[in-house]
Amino acid sequence: MWGHTCYLSKLPPELHPAAVGLETPLALLDERVAVLCADPRYLIMKQQYMLPVLKAILAGEKPELTFESNDRSFLPSAAQHSEDLQNMVAWAKLEYRRPQQVKLFFMEDFVLEPETAFRGLAKFLGLPLSSDVLPALLQRMPQLEMRGLFGPGGNERQHMEEQAKQFEVALAGFSNDLQAGWQDQVQQLLHSPNPRLSVMGRLLLDHQRWDLPRWWVAHSAQLCRPCTFAPRGLCRNAALCSFCHADEHGTKAANRPSKKERARRDRRRQAMARTPSPQGLSS
Ligand SMILES: [Zn+2]
Ligand SMILES: [Zn+2]
Repeated sequence: MWGHTCYLSKLPPELHPAAVGLETPLALLDERVAVLCADPRYLIMKQQYMLPVLKAILAGEKPELTFESNDRSFLPSAAQHSEDLQNMVAWAKLEYRRPQQVKLFFMEDFVLEPETAFRGLAKFLGLPLSSDVLPALLQRMPQLEMRGLFGPGGNERQHMEEQAKQFEVALAGFSNDLQAGWQDQVQQLLHSPNPRLSVMGRLLLDHQRWDLPRWWVAHSAQLCRPCTFAPRGLCRNAALCSFCHADEHGTKAANRPSKKERARRDRRRQAMARTPSPQGLSS
């Protein structure tokens, strides 16, 4: 039995060894690339905490992660060109072409519903999630939060929202040129083949918080159960519905012939399978 090897990288597809394989017919069939995405405003703002840590490491000092940084000097250039955002866009194109090998995952899902998100990740990677692994993973989540690796105070969701809000405040103070540069970047999300990235693009253009309905988590994990009412516009639970409302299910349901039409086709098929009656032959 072969073991699994996991590599962690921040590379865009054009520099990623696994993705180089994807461009050729001789793709390495066993490679799976799980791309971790998040609200780019949060990822950009996170730099203000990570940059001092990196500086300390480079200077040979002991790095200390604090959440009290006021260094925003990197913001204007990140608004013009965010590597995280560009990578998401590039990987989404590859995900569209090679859905078996590349899949986008969202940090928000791991924060909101870690169990479903981990199950989805394991399913995509083809890793068996034995009964002891998942509880151990879930137990680690709050521990990590307590130690402030995710955000201060242990509530990562709040932290993510706060960061996005701070980015919006900073953005509002930027020059028109800088704001236009940010919008150009966001437009790329809007036109992404990944439906969630395009929803995110829309929200970012409207300067809204990224507050997605619950069913997105299970849908992204490919563990969802489609809502049978939503495609006909009859679901009253809207964003609170625990069944999936993703458009992909809707189009499938819309293409499905009606019950009446299916019964008619069945009858016709049965009639055609029957032995022709003498009457039928004579006519
Ligand atoms: Zn779904
Ligand atoms: Zn519903």
